[in-house]
Amino acid sequence: MAETKYIFVTGGVVSSLGKGIISSSIGKLLQARGYNVTIQKFDPYINIDPGTLNPYEHGECYVTVDGMETDLDLGHYERFTDIKTTKANSLTTGRIYKAVIDKERRGDYLGKTIQVVPHITDEIKRNVKLLGKKYNYDFVITEIGGTIGDIESAPYMEAIRQLKWELGKKAVCVHLTYVPYLKAAGEVKTKPTQHSVKELQSVGIQPDILVLRTEMHLGDSIRKKVAAFCNVDFDCVIQSEDMPSIYEVPVGMQDQGLDTAILRKFGEPVGEKPGLGPWRKFLERRNNAKEEVHIGLVGKYDLQDAYKSIRESLYQAGTYNDRKTVLTFINSEKINNENVGEMLAGQDGIVICPGFGQRGIEGKIIAAKYTRTHDIPTFGICLGMQMMVIEFARNVLGYADANSREMDEKTPHNVIDIMEEQKNITNMGGTMRLGAYECVLKQGSRVMDIYGQTLIQERHRHRYEFNNDYQHEYERCGMQCVGKNPESDLVEIVEIPGLKWYIGTQFHPEYQSTVLHPHPLFVDFVKHSIENQEK
Ligand code: GLN
Repeated sequence: MAETKYIFVTGGVVSSLGKGIISSSIGKLLQARGYNVTIQKFDPYINIDPGTLNPYEHGECYVTVDGMETDLDLGHYERFTDIKTTKANSLTTGRIYKAVIDKERRGDYLGKTIQVVPHITDEIKRNVKLLGKKYNYDFVITEIGGTIGDIESAPYMEAIRQLKWELGKKAVCVHLTYVPYLKAAGEVKTKPTQHSVKELQSVGIQPDILVLRTEMHLGDSIRKKVAAFCNVDFDCVIQSEDMPSIYEVPVGMQDQGLDTAILRKFGEPVGEKPGLGPWRKFLERRNNAKEEVHIGLVGKYDLQDAYKSIRESLYQAGTYNDRKTVLTFINSEKINNENVGEMLAGQDGIVICPGFGQRGIEGKIIAAKYTRTHDIPTFGICLGMQMMVIEFARNVLGYADANSREMDEKTPHNVIDIMEEQKNITNMGGTMRLGAYECVLKQGSRVMDIYGQTLIQERHRHRYEFNNDYQHEYERCGMQCVGKNPESDLVEIVEIPGLKWYIGTQFHPEYQSTVLHPHPLFVDFVKHSIENQEK
């Protein structure tokens, strides 16, 4: 395709309609037709990135290869399409304003009054076009966070209006709305959709395609009504019914003709319907898996979105082991020495989750001890790995006061310490060890076996590290350092070889697990959890 085309995805009526899943599905369907696609997200909040947000505010923080802390929707983009997102795929109002203010200070606009229109809107437009220009994508899909009508999203809507005007046939707006079912009336209601489209029209945007989220199947008469009231072609009113899994959505959208509607709007040839073979095979395997594997997530955030990528990685790994993964959240704040057996009972494997700060860490340490001494497959991720290391120091090396400097600055046995380059950092935002780093795996280790290679790259998000002063002691007593960064010598993976599966990673493997390329560590962990169950 000669010139990049732009797809904007906006949402109306209510939030949480799944714009990220629809954007990912559009990406997937266009990719299946041979197009080169990327997806970006604009979040209308003032934070530069979600790195400083509490997971209760914003769910998980997803990390790109180039070290940007981003919205969890970028995780969906990668899991669905296998594309690698970067800094340019994640923008916030804070970043847009900062770029404009920095330019103003540099004197780039000398003599001018800086305003939302045109300076902020121009910066938004520049960032929309940047990806297309730089990498020559066929399609750039831009998802706008929030809901139409929000004060915060107004500059984005103005930027889309201008881009649609400038780009003409090269821009299409997909608007996602909600069609509620009123039980008492026994009817679905299209009025909120009509109002939402009016709101878009009032800022000068005519949506080209409407995706109606609905719990009930919508008949043609309802779709016709929406088409007539909203100035949208009948075949561009797509319904998105609730699905048993988010991974069914691309197939559902293909059946509803979302991709063909988009192509027609762009004047692109529609061609044959792609088979989505590997994707369908995954779904089939997923749906055929009846037996369960039970995994407990030991963490402190009782919120599905907080460990989104870990959850999805475990679901994918379950499918590739022909099992249905059943996840149970286990609140580490409630775990103590007396109840740990009871709290972890019934789980075939345990994941000790990432995190920051004191809250809930003692419970994680107690859980790590229990699973080590009872030989239950255990996967520690980032803080989870650090807790495995502390537990081992306290109960095997005999340092009862061992800790991480993050939790106890004065600990005499700082088996987890602050990284050298982190010592003088005072700014909290975007300053952790972030993004992909290399790791060399030890010959003969289990992780080398699992990865099937010695040099890997994984993504990071942390400030503290394994203290290498203790390495020999650990190894002598049975916990091996089996993955190291070749430049800094930082320990990236620990394992206890004698146990069924006891591995901790300083990095976050969950960011790399996708539907068609599940992460080998998760697949192997689930495999051993299943074997543990069968004993
Ligand atoms: N709080 C720990 C650190 O900063 C672990 C971070 C994490 O789990 N992502 O090193």
